Amino acid sequence: MDRVVDAPELTAVRQRLGKKAVTVLVRRELADARRLMLAGEAPIAFGAVVARVRVLAEARLRAGLQPVINATGVLLHTNLGRAPLPQASIARIVETAGVYSSLELDVETGVRTRRGVQVELGLSELVGADDVLLVNNNAAAVLLALSSLAAGREVIVSRGELVEIGGGFRIPEVLARSGARLVEVGTTNRTRVEDYANALTERTACLLRVHPSNFKITGFAQRPSLAELARLGHERGVVVVKDLGGGLVSELPAAIAASDLAREPSVTSCLRAGADLVCFSLDKLFGGPQGGAIAGRGDLVGKLRDDPLARALRLDKLALAATEGVLDAYRRGATTEIPIHALLATPLAELRVRVESWRAALSEQSVATECVESEGAIGGGTLAEAPVASVALRLTHGNPDVLAERLRAGSPAVLGRVVEGALLLDARTVFPGQDAALMRALQLAIDETRAGLEPGGEP
Ligand SMILES: *Cc1c(COP(=O)(O)O)cnc(C)c1O
Repeated sequence: MDRVVDAPELTAVRQRLGKKAVTVLVRRELADARRLMLAGEAPIAFGAVVARVRVLAEARLRAGLQPVINATGVLLHTNLGRAPLPQASIARIVETAGVYSSLELDVETGVRTRRGVQVELGLSELVGADDVLLVNNNAAAVLLALSSLAAGREVIVSRGELVEIGGGFRIPEVLARSGARLVEVGTTNRTRVEDYANALTERTACLLRVHPSNFKITGFAQRPSLAELARLGHERGVVVVKDLGGGLVSELPAAIAASDLAREPSVTSCLRAGADLVCFSLDKLFGGPQGGAIAGRGDLVGKLRDDPLARALRLDKLALAATEGVLDAYRRGATTEIPIHALLATPLAELRVRVESWRAALSEQSVATECVESEGAIGGGTLAEAPVASVALRLTHGNPDVLAERLRAGSPAVLGRVVEGALLLDARTVFPGQDAALMRALQLAIDETRAGLEPGGEP
């Protein structure tokens, strides 16, 4: 046991992973080896055990968060951390995270203040709401709103909106957790405002309207406008809550305003339509860190803020610092500083030039490449109906799955898409500053597949 742990071949991983963790790996490996021997297999050589432990330890070292080049064309890729942060956000984190900060202190008066009060004020102004409350994510925002306003009472939802967003967020389950009772109305494809009206009783606390986000009902489909729903809610004295998800705020970058996204509701348009509360994510189209916001009527937001559950769901200080940076960019009208908006706004011609430069960089590799039109997506469980036009490098070289696997296992890891027997690397989601690293990774992966190496294997 000690001989394996102290083997010179393991010096580097011992230093980086710690002797304790290496010992755990060795113990497990030796137990496996013993079991195999008892089952009648040939004894495993000392060197083989050491080599195996090294492979496992190195995999562990790689297993933490690492940068990934996103060549999938999916802008808000949930597995890749959704929205990358603007520089202004990173600067705010660097400035405040390693020292004490005025998180809950008014430095002028020396009096304790509410966490996030300035950001909440700024966001209220940005979206045109009386007030905004920030929480840990949008799931928390919806849970808090329903729990505070409707626990023990009824919430009316259309059957066409009882959706699962992904990552375990299911409207009926969140509703059940909030302590409210779900009253389903209408059908999967058609719900009318009368359906809501007929289901309204003195037990009703809320009408909940959910953005279906990641799926779309087409054909014989109908649902009332948010404004009609809000009118009904206000006539009958119940609160209208909109779970918007995506978090488009009022200020649309020109490129978005001219695209299909322009038809998407924004936080501001939902408030104008009469929603009392609008819940949205900060790390989707808003372009910030993981977080959720509840924007709307002052008395309601205040009630949510005073709920003990709000304390358990509050936004952390790093996310708050990051949100300040994003808000600052919106205020200055500098949406191109917000990475998700910059990526979305890149003209197709520019993407084509980049892909042609990738092809040129690969010209000596003698692999077949093409510059093709591709269809990206917003992703992150948002806006199923808004495909994003893009340009991709199409590579046909050996087995595309093996090449994709090699790229994923590289450093930096590169994620592409295998479509119809070819590897597609979409330029829209690759930052221009990553082009050189992408080319190096690609050349290496091509060389490795030529050498016939299996991913994870030894040379
Ligand atoms: C994304 C989304 C959620 C979940 O938001 P998180 O910030 O991931 O918790 C909830 N509702 C809708 C409509 C969404 O699009």
